[in-house]
Amino acid sequence: MKIGIIGGGQLGMMMAEEAKNLGHTIMSLDPNPSCSITKFSDCHISKPYNDEEALEFIYDSCEVITYEFENVNLDVLNGYLDKLPQGTEALRISKNRLLEKEFASDLRIEVPKFNEVKSLNDIFVPSIVKTVTGGYDGKGQFRVTTKNDIKEASRISEGKLICEEYIEFDYEISVVSTRGKNGECVFFPIPVNIHKNGILHLSIVDKSIPKEVIRVAKENTKHILEELNYVGTLAVEYFVKDNKVIFNEFAPRPHNSGHYTMDGCDVSQFRTHILAITGEEVPAPKLRLKTVMVNVLGQNKKYYRNAKAVVNAVSHDYYKNSTRENRKIGHINITYNESQNITKIIDRIIEE
Ligand code: ADP
Ligand code: MG
Repeated sequence: MKIGIIGGGQLGMMMAEEAKNLGHTIMSLDPNPSCSITKFSDCHISKPYNDEEALEFIYDSCEVITYEFENVNLDVLNGYLDKLPQGTEALRISKNRLLEKEFASDLRIEVPKFNEVKSLNDIFVPSIVKTVTGGYDGKGQFRVTTKNDIKEASRISEGKLICEEYIEFDYEISVVSTRGKNGECVFFPIPVNIHKNGILHLSIVDKSIPKEVIRVAKENTKHILEELNYVGTLAVEYFVKDNKVIFNEFAPRPHNSGHYTMDGCDVSQFRTHILAITGEEVPAPKLRLKTVMVNVLGQNKKYYRNAKAVVNAVSHDYYKNSTRENRKIGHINITYNESQNITKIIDRIIEE
């Protein structure tokens, strides 16, 4: 099939790579003429994401269209729904943190207390104030720990803000799931995610999460996918506190916390995404070995060098032509077994 991919970052690149492995042809759209996806794309269009002429051309040329990020214009995409298995409902909701939390709460999924910030009185303590739209990798957020923080928090953006209860979580997890056109959902083993400065640092899959937490997290995720009538890979982030599973946010696309699947599972989140959107059967993923994923940011290039000395460390570079600080430029997956001390291995990779 000919598949159109909107967005040419690393997620688009890894989708395209798997799509090529499955025998498909890729047409991609991204304003950057040397973005990551050009490594695998058969035809790249360097135009803005919302360029109607370019999108029209992709729609006419391709049998299926997918997007890899949330900054696409909904009204434009709504004209292409018959070739867009992901749909736009998941995108509409996940673009807006207020709608997202209301949506989860309406499904009786536990969410942090939250409200829209219309005046300073709406900011409670302790909390975390976030921009309702446009935030990512911890950007557009302000932690409110005392009353003195309220004013500053209210000024982080001119746009709408949400104030959320600050959850002193025990750990964070994400459920990466793929729903096929037949409505069946498959789930990847659940990673524990460790963030640094609001950016994902490590995803660890070692089967240590209590069974009941896994059951509730999967059940909630299935409910979300079904309610959205979503087809493709989608990830839901949760906080876990005292074994309670609290919804944080979801992303209607493959997710950074699912990158471990490329080496840790018998099928990756990108392959299942492509299988789902092309109407193929989606296999239930199995963990091959315990895995840790380490994100590599612009300032962490030395991780690649350190990883060379670690057996079973696989580096995945995103071929970015600019490597700014705090920008994700790749990741490293390390598979390991019971006898290995993973903390030591991680330390070896991230040491200065
Ligand atoms: P982003 O879109 O940047 O990923 P998130 O809402 O997931 O935004 O926030 C990034 C990280 O900030 C989370 O993974 C978590 O570590 C922390 N965080 C966000 N919201 C809360 C909260 N309500 N309570 C505690 N920590 C939070
Ligand atoms: Mg997040």
